[in-house]
Amino acid sequence: MEYKSKNIEDTLALASKLAHLIPYGSVILLNGDLGAGKTTFVQGFARAKKINEKITSPTFTLLKIYAITDKNCLVHVDAYRLENALFEELEDYINENNILLIEWSHNLKNQEIFEQYLAIDFTYISKNQRKITLTAVGEQYQKIIEGMKQNV
Ligand code: ADP
Ligand code: MG
Repeated sequence: MEYKSKNIEDTLALASKLAHLIPYGSVILLNGDLGAGKTTFVQGFARAKKINEKITSPTFTLLKIYAITDKNCLVHVDAYRLENALFEELEDYINENNILLIEWSHNLKNQEIFEQYLAIDFTYISKNQRKITLTAVGEQYQKIIEGMKQNV
Protein backbone atom coordinates (compact mmCIF):
# COMPACT_ATOMS: atom_id res chain seq x y z
CA MET A 1 0.00 0.00 0.00
CA GLU A 2 1.32 3.40 -0.97
CA TYR A 3 0.37 6.56 0.83
CA LYS A 4 1.26 10.12 -0.03
CA SER A 5 1.74 12.29 3.03
CA LYS A 6 1.36 16.01 2.32
CA ASN A 7 2.38 17.26 5.76
CA ILE A 8 3.28 16.13 9.27
CA GLU A 9 -0.36 15.83 10.29
CA ASP A 10 -0.95 13.31 7.47
CA THR A 11 1.89 11.17 8.75
CA LEU A 12 0.65 11.42 12.34
CA ALA A 13 -2.88 10.50 11.22
CA LEU A 14 -1.69 7.46 9.26
CA ALA A 15 0.25 6.29 12.31
CA SER A 16 -2.81 6.80 14.47
CA LYS A 17 -4.94 4.65 12.16
CA LEU A 18 -2.38 1.89 12.33
CA ALA A 19 -2.23 2.18 16.12
CA HIS A 20 -5.96 1.49 16.29
CA LEU A 21 -5.77 -1.56 14.01
CA ILE A 22 -2.60 -3.38 14.97
CA PRO A 23 -2.63 -5.88 17.85
CA TYR A 24 -0.10 -6.36 20.62
CA GLY A 25 2.63 -8.74 19.62
CA SER A 26 3.21 -6.85 16.36
CA VAL A 27 6.53 -5.85 14.85
CA ILE A 28 6.76 -2.74 12.66
CA LEU A 29 9.96 -2.06 10.74
CA LEU A 30 10.55 1.57 9.73
CA ASN A 31 13.14 2.38 7.09
CA GLY A 32 14.09 5.37 4.98
CA ASP A 33 16.59 8.23 4.98
CA LEU A 34 17.26 10.60 7.86
CA GLY A 35 14.44 13.11 8.10
CA ALA A 36 12.05 10.97 6.09
CA GLY A 37 9.55 10.76 8.95
CA LYS A 38 10.14 7.54 10.87
CA THR A 39 10.26 9.13 14.32
CA THR A 40 7.33 11.38 13.45
CA PHE A 41 5.35 8.23 12.63
CA VAL A 42 6.26 6.71 16.01
CA GLN A 43 5.11 9.94 17.69
CA GLY A 44 1.73 9.66 15.98
CA PHE A 45 1.45 6.03 16.98
CA ALA A 46 2.32 6.84 20.60
CA ARG A 47 -0.13 9.72 20.71
CA ALA A 48 -2.92 7.38 19.58
CA LYS A 49 -1.93 4.98 22.37
CA LYS A 50 -2.23 7.86 24.87
CA ILE A 51 1.44 7.85 25.73
CA ASN A 52 2.19 11.26 27.20
CA GLU A 53 5.97 11.11 27.24
CA LYS A 54 7.73 12.85 24.41
CA ILE A 55 9.03 10.35 21.85
CA THR A 56 12.52 11.13 20.60
CA SER A 57 14.83 8.93 18.59
CA PRO A 58 16.61 6.60 20.99
CA THR A 59 19.81 6.83 19.00
CA PHE A 60 22.16 6.61 21.96
CA THR A 61 20.15 4.19 24.06
CA LEU A 62 19.07 1.96 21.12
CA LEU A 63 15.80 1.19 22.80
CA LYS A 64 13.11 2.94 24.81
CA ILE A 65 10.08 1.40 26.44
CA TYR A 66 6.79 3.22 26.96
CA ALA A 67 3.95 1.76 29.03
CA ILE A 68 0.54 1.69 27.32
CA THR A 69 -1.35 -0.39 29.90
CA ASP A 70 -0.30 -2.31 33.05
CA LYS A 71 1.15 -5.07 30.91
CA ASN A 72 1.42 -3.62 27.40
CA CYS A 73 4.31 -1.55 26.10
CA LEU A 74 5.47 0.26 23.03
CA VAL A 75 9.11 -0.61 22.39
CA HIS A 76 10.87 1.98 20.24
CA VAL A 77 14.19 1.00 18.72
CA ASP A 78 16.58 3.05 16.58
CA ALA A 79 19.30 0.96 14.93
CA TYR A 80 20.82 3.91 13.04
CA ARG A 81 24.22 3.47 14.66
CA LEU A 82 24.31 -0.30 14.58
CA GLU A 83 25.52 -0.80 11.01
CA ASN A 84 25.17 -4.51 10.51
CA ALA A 85 25.66 -5.34 14.17
CA LEU A 86 23.87 -7.97 16.19
CA PHE A 87 21.33 -6.78 18.71
CA GLU A 88 20.56 -10.12 20.32
CA GLU A 89 18.50 -8.85 23.26
CA LEU A 90 15.99 -7.38 20.83
CA GLU A 91 14.40 -10.81 20.36
CA ASP A 92 13.46 -10.87 24.05
CA TYR A 93 11.14 -7.90 23.54
CA ILE A 94 9.13 -9.58 20.81
CA ASN A 95 6.16 -11.04 22.66
CA GLU A 96 2.38 -10.80 22.83
CA ASN A 97 2.43 -7.84 25.23
CA ASN A 98 4.54 -5.46 23.21
CA ILE A 99 4.35 -3.55 19.98
CA LEU A 100 7.79 -2.95 18.50
CA LEU A 101 8.56 -0.01 16.25
CA ILE A 102 12.08 -0.35 14.88
CA GLU A 103 13.75 2.49 12.98
CA TRP A 104 16.59 1.50 10.65
CA SER A 105 15.79 -2.20 11.01
CA HIS A 106 17.79 -2.84 7.81
CA ASN A 107 20.92 -2.12 9.84
CA LEU A 108 20.41 -5.18 12.00
CA LYS A 109 22.37 -8.27 11.20
CA ASN A 110 19.98 -10.66 12.93
CA GLN A 111 17.08 -10.15 10.51
CA GLU A 112 15.93 -13.72 11.12
CA ILE A 113 14.28 -12.67 14.40
CA PHE A 114 11.63 -10.93 12.28
CA GLU A 115 9.42 -13.73 10.99
CA GLN A 116 6.29 -11.76 10.29
CA TYR A 117 6.14 -7.99 10.29
CA LEU A 118 4.78 -4.84 8.78
CA ALA A 119 7.44 -2.96 6.84
CA ILE A 120 6.95 0.79 6.43
CA ASP A 121 9.28 2.60 4.06
CA PHE A 122 9.57 6.38 3.98
CA THR A 123 10.76 8.35 0.98
CA TYR A 124 11.44 12.07 0.98
CA ILE A 125 9.65 13.79 -1.93
CA SER A 126 9.79 17.49 -1.02
CA LYS A 127 10.01 19.62 2.13
CA ASN A 128 6.59 18.54 3.36
CA GLN A 129 5.78 15.51 1.22
CA ARG A 130 6.67 11.91 1.88
CA LYS A 131 5.83 8.65 0.18
CA ILE A 132 4.98 6.01 2.77
CA THR A 133 4.83 2.39 1.62
CA LEU A 134 3.36 -0.37 3.76
CA THR A 135 4.30 -3.97 3.00
CA ALA A 136 3.01 -7.00 4.89
CA VAL A 137 5.10 -10.04 5.57
CA GLY A 138 2.70 -12.60 6.99
CA GLU A 139 -1.04 -13.06 6.68
CA GLN A 140 -2.00 -11.18 9.83
CA TYR A 141 -0.27 -8.06 8.55
CA GLN A 142 -1.90 -8.40 5.15
CA LYS A 143 -5.26 -8.09 6.92
CA ILE A 144 -4.09 -4.98 8.71
CA ILE A 145 -3.12 -3.35 5.42
CA GLU A 146 -6.55 -4.20 4.03
CA GLY A 147 -8.03 -2.44 7.07
CA MET A 148 -5.79 0.56 6.53
CA LYS A 149 -6.96 0.86 2.92
CA GLN A 150 -10.57 1.11 4.07
CA ASN A 151 -9.67 3.79 6.57
CA VAL A 152 -7.46 6.13 4.60
P1 ADP B 1 13.48 10.20 10.74
O1 ADP B 1 13.13 9.59 12.06
O2 ADP B 1 13.05 9.38 9.57
O3 ADP B 1 14.92 10.58 10.66
P2 ADP B 1 11.96 12.47 11.67
O4 ADP B 1 10.57 12.01 11.86
O5 ADP B 1 12.83 12.59 12.87
O6 ADP B 1 12.67 11.56 10.57
O7 ADP B 1 12.00 13.87 10.94
C1 ADP B 1 11.14 14.19 9.90
C2 ADP B 1 11.24 15.69 9.69
O8 ADP B 1 10.54 16.06 8.52
C3 ADP B 1 10.63 16.45 10.84
O9 ADP B 1 11.37 17.62 11.07
C4 ADP B 1 9.24 16.78 10.32
O10 ADP B 1 8.76 17.95 10.88
C5 ADP B 1 9.51 16.97 8.84
N1 ADP B 1 8.38 16.68 7.95
C6 ADP B 1 7.93 17.51 7.00
N2 ADP B 1 6.91 16.97 6.33
C7 ADP B 1 6.70 15.76 6.88
C8 ADP B 1 5.76 14.73 6.59
N3 ADP B 1 4.84 14.82 5.61
N4 ADP B 1 5.82 13.60 7.34
C9 ADP B 1 6.74 13.49 8.31
N5 ADP B 1 7.66 14.43 8.63
C10 ADP B 1 7.64 15.57 7.91
MG1 MG C 1 14.35 8.85 13.62
